[in-house]
Amino acid sequence: MKAPDFAYMRPDSLDGVFAALAQYGDDARILAGGQTLMALQNMRLAAADVLVDINRVPDLPDIVEEPGHLLIGALVRYAALAESPLVQQHVPLLADAVPFVAHAAIRNRGTVGGSLALGDPAAEIPACMLALGAEVILSSAAGTRTIPMREFYLGLYETALRPDEVLTAVRVPKRRPGQFHAIDEIVRRRGDFALAGLAVSGVAEKGAVEAISLALFGVADRPVLATDAADLLIGKALDPAQIETAKDAVIASLDPPDDPITPPAYRRHIGGVLVQRLLGQIREKLA
Ligand SMILES: Cc1cc2nc3c(=O)[nH]c(=O)nc-3n(C[C@H](O)[C@H](O)[C@H](O)COP(=O)(O)OP(=O)(O)OC[C@H]3O[C@@H](n4cnc5c(N)ncnc54)[C@H](O)[C@@H]3O)c2cc1C
Repeated sequence: MKAPDFAYMRPDSLDGVFAALAQYGDDARILAGGQTLMALQNMRLAAADVLVDINRVPDLPDIVEEPGHLLIGALVRYAALAESPLVQQHVPLLADAVPFVAHAAIRNRGTVGGSLALGDPAAEIPACMLALGAEVILSSAAGTRTIPMREFYLGLYETALRPDEVLTAVRVPKRRPGQFHAIDEIVRRRGDFALAGLAVSGVAEKGAVEAISLALFGVADRPVLATDAADLLIGKALDPAQIETAKDAVIASLDPPDDPITPPAYRRHIGGVLVQRLLGQIREKLA
């Protein structure tokens, strides 16, 4: 199918984007990598009358080092994220996550901001940002606000973004000494969205877990933190008994949507398998 007619605007400043959003309101949609939006247009699923292309707005494709953080611009492509020496050094979980996202062609165009703004519950980058304790930066003509990732998703494809706002960047804490991470997912075919996935980030001190976040994706209407399981691990060594306890806590906490192809019990099971697998890998690395 082909997209219905739409107007196309390509402002070269954020102010120009704000003006377009103010002029067209709900009829307008921001175009970033287009890897989801253009498919929706072509299939006439969520067709917008006006596409506001942000690809000429300066600064949005940049990755900037700040004290304690990396500021990752909304237009950073997945491929650039994985290849960035700053990301590899300071937030290696993100570099490790990229190969799980779709296929090379989509990773060359799809953007960090598009992934976060879309909020697909099975997407890898939003879950990683949740595990890392990142904050999104939302800008509009009225100003800028910063929202922690754990408050950004409100429901299925529903975010705290207002129609007049652009997600301009995400601020991600740099790794600390003793920090560990891991990511994995279960998919039918490589490149598909995950049936279930897990991103882990934490800090170990003298063999014991000082802090840990377990962010699951593909198991709910948004990425979710398994806080009960994380609490059980704090102050403990990652031994097999503790890992088993955390796995049981994750399985108990999950309430996946009913889906005739992938029943909730199966998603809970593979969520538990991923906890056991990734915490086992981290345990070996820490030994
Ligand atoms: C075959 C296929 C497989 C895929 N597999 C995966 C996968 O395994 N994992 C995964 O995570 N994704 C997957 N995707 C989706 C892909 O990653 C998309 O690129 C991504 O989700 C959206 O990024 P984009 O830059 O292309 O955004 P676009 O398609 O341009 O926009 C997506 C939505 O976000 C809004 N938006 C975009 N940028 C901003 C912004 N800066 N501020 C506010 N709103 C904004 C748009 O208005 C639109 O509503 C797949 C896509 C395809 C076609």
